[in-house]
Amino acid sequence: MTKVSDLCTFLENFAPSALAESWDNVGLIIGDPEQKVCKVMTCLTITPESAAEAIEEQAQLIVTHHPLPFRPLQRITTLETPARLVWELAGAKISVYSPHTAFDSTHRGINAQLAEIMELVEVVPIRSGSLGGDVGAGRMGHLHHPITLAQLVARLRRKLNGATCEANFGADHPVQSIAIACGSGGSLLAEARRLGCDCFVTGEASFHTVLEASAGGMALLQIGHFTSERFAVEHLAELIQQNFADCSVWASRRESFPRHWL
Ligand SMILES: [Zn+2]
Repeated sequence: MTKVSDLCTFLENFAPSALAESWDNVGLIIGDPEQKVCKVMTCLTITPESAAEAIEEQAQLIVTHHPLPFRPLQRITTLETPARLVWELAGAKISVYSPHTAFDSTHRGINAQLAEIMELVEVVPIRSGSLGGDVGAGRMGHLHHPITLAQLVARLRRKLNGATCEANFGADHPVQSIAIACGSGGSLLAEARRLGCDCFVTGEASFHTVLEASAGGMALLQIGHFTSERFAVEHLAELIQQNFADCSVWASRRESFPRHWL
């Protein structure tokens, strides 16, 4: 029977923790490697909703993209949200594993998948990791011919549900050499520009990052933090299912990003 440690080994092979950023908190964060597993839920983030789903469905393991806890906790009481979720999950004997930035950067990771969705060629990392080769932070690549921002957005929308895109240039602006950093990827913008990219695609960027891109004549497309990463935890659930036939694996059905346009 599958144990938590079997899934940890599989996930470590898929997204080696050596690829994670130094500030990150990846791997098995809560739990018991010896625990037997028959139900696994993936999610982007552990929230009260996704935690309740895992508890009601009697999962033994949550694979969450964003770590919980992320920062050290000095006390675990029900008075603050991250600690309360840790308390509730531990009480329900649910282990938690997070691949986070290792998942962003790995061979078939989130940024590599986004590069494929945009049909980029000659794809390489923006910043090579310690493992070298085709893995590392972000991705950049080219299109055979320039396309407009509107056409690039259409490609993303075909594969990413509900992508609401915000750009610093108009729909007709042409792009050809494209960098991608899922989530909040602004820290890779300057590097992508130095490497000659004319467009930077990320989940979300700060006001000043947008101004910096504009000043350098670089298109900056924000597709939403949730949208830029959630699809990948759905793919990850499928991948785990294919490799662990004795487990039932699903991507959280209750997870959503609360956003209303007023
Ligand atoms: Zn993220």
